[in-house]
Amino acid sequence: TERTHRSEDSVIEVTDVDFGYTATRVVEDISLTIDPGEYVAVVGPNGSGKSTLMKLMLGLLEPDAGTVRLFGEPAHRFDDGDRVGYVAQHASASKEMPITVREVVKMGRFPHVGFGRLSADDWEIVDRALETVGMSEFAGRRVTQLSGGQRQRAFIARALASEAELLVLDEPTVGVDAESVEAFYALLESLNDDGITVLLIEHDLSAVTEQAERVVCLDGAVYFDGPTDEFVDSDALVRAFGAAARGLGESR
Ligand code: ADP
Repeated sequence: TERTHRSEDSVIEVTDVDFGYTATRVVEDISLTIDPGEYVAVVGPNGSGKSTLMKLMLGLLEPDAGTVRLFGEPAHRFDDGDRVGYVAQHASASKEMPITVREVVKMGRFPHVGFGRLSADDWEIVDRALETVGMSEFAGRRVTQLSGGQRQRAFIARALASEAELLVLDEPTVGVDAESVEAFYALLESLNDDGITVLLIEHDLSAVTEQAERVVCLDGAVYFDGPTDEFVDSDALVRAFGAAARGLGESR
């Protein structure tokens, strides 16, 4: 692509951020940096501010104090949307979309073609994205007819077609059958191996320990931020996943 890539830039830089929807603070004094190529899991109990932090990172919310930068730009003014791929929870994915998988993935090219016609090269990128996520044979199927896991892969393919450098996923395997979950995480891992930065909000402890290199545990503030193998031996494991999770830390 023609994009000037400044490799020294962090993907996300959060500095001294406070935020509340009302007078009550939901996240407080958050500072963290995510560098290109990282695979970071954000964990924490319900209501600990994970989704709020993600919205701040994507510029969908503005901090009350502090700054959030996305690819070096203030996040709320960031408009290079094709660099960021967002995969929502399956449960919240639209059930009314009567369009096919290929049409969904094609949308990933819109920022590049200015809503004009896709060139042969664009279609090749679309087809390659479908192939990468293993959805070529379902290209003509309507999104409404897919399983949860297939649908999530279609949305990843859309991000790949847009040549996203950052994938943000909010509990992407909620409602996805166990067999597909494994394939889904294998896909994420291979995309990360190819250099895509992955930021994953995750409630499933085994997905965290098997996938992420780094864990950020929230509790309003950042309770833990470090390598996954330190996380499984820390208080933060219990804080995020409950006392029953402790054995997992010890067995590893
Ligand atoms: P998590 O993703 O960790 O479950 P959230 O970021 O969704 O946490 O929520 C953090 C806190 O902010 C919770 O107390 C929640 O009730 C509150 N909250 C979330 N969204 C809103 C909103 N749109 N308006 C008011 N309060 C909200």
